[in-house]
Amino acid sequence: MKPAPFEYFVPEAADEALALMAEHGLEARPLAGGQSLVPLINMRMAQPGVLIDLNRCAEFAYLREDGDALVSGPMTRQRELELSPIVRRHCPLIAKAMPHMGHATIRNRGTAGGSLSHADPSAELPGVAVAMDAELIAGGPNGRRAIPATEFYLAELTTALEPEEMLCEIRFPKATENSRASFAEVGSHFGGLAIVGVAGQVEISASGHCNKVALAATGAGERPMRLTSAEALLTGQVLDERIIPDAAEAAAADVEPLEDLHASAHWRRRAVVAMTAQALREIASQGVG
Ligand SMILES: Cc1cc2nc3c(=O)[nH]c(=O)nc-3n(C[C@H](O)[C@H](O)[C@H](O)COP(=O)(O)OP(=O)(O)OC[C@H]3O[C@@H](n4cnc5c(N)ncnc54)[C@H](O)[C@@H]3O)c2cc1C
Repeated sequence: MKPAPFEYFVPEAADEALALMAEHGLEARPLAGGQSLVPLINMRMAQPGVLIDLNRCAEFAYLREDGDALVSGPMTRQRELELSPIVRRHCPLIAKAMPHMGHATIRNRGTAGGSLSHADPSAELPGVAVAMDAELIAGGPNGRRAIPATEFYLAELTTALEPEEMLCEIRFPKATENSRASFAEVGSHFGGLAIVGVAGQVEISASGHCNKVALAATGAGERPMRLTSAEALLTGQVLDERIIPDAAEAAAADVEPLEDLHASAHWRRRAVVAMTAQALREIASQGVG
């Protein structure tokens, strides 16, 4: 199929892109890496009247440290997040999750902002952002506002962005030196979207106790979900086989999986338990302090 007709703009500055969004509002969609939007348009599952191509907005593509945060522009390519030494050092959970996202060719083109804004409940990066308590900075006619990742996802493919707003920056809190991270997922084939995934980051003290636990599941509800019962059970405990099975079971109560053609709700819930256990075991294997 061919896309329905649309107007096409290629702004070269962030202000220009934001002005176009303000002018065209509901009609407009930003085009980032196009890895999700272009197929949707070609299949006419999305029919935006206006496409605002962000690929020439160089000021939207950056990755830098800013105090206790690692800050990414929306047009930073997923491959850069995967390979960047500052990501590995300060946000190991991102580095662990990125190789699971499609193929390297997809990540060469796909962007941080595109994946986060697309809001596919099975996508890895939204789950990571929710686990890390990232802040998503929206820009619009009334300036910029920060939206906690935990409030950004409303439902499948639906975010808290207003029609005239764009995602302009992502702020990931840096992990402490003694944080350990893992991303575990199960899918039907290599390079495809996972069915269920679990992102985990645990700060472990020199004595082996979990100071701070952050866990989030993907593919287990309409949006990425924090596994708060499992987090509460683990906090203050030693991360070992005496607690991991119970924490993984607790995670089952934190999700609201739906049935679709890939898996039943029951299967997804059990997959959350299995992936939580797998992520926690990998974290435990990384040592303490
Ligand atoms: C074969 C294949 C396998 C894949 N496997 C995976 C996988 O395993 N895991 C995974 O997570 N993804 C997967 N993807 C999707 C891929 O990661 C996409 O790159 C990502 O979902 C969208 O990023 P993008 O930059 O391509 O955005 P686009 O496709 O350009 O845009 C996606 C959506 O986000 C909106 N958008 C883009 N930028 C902004 C912004 N700054 N502000 C507001 N809205 C914005 C667009 O309007 C559109 O609605 C796969 C894709 C393919 C083709």
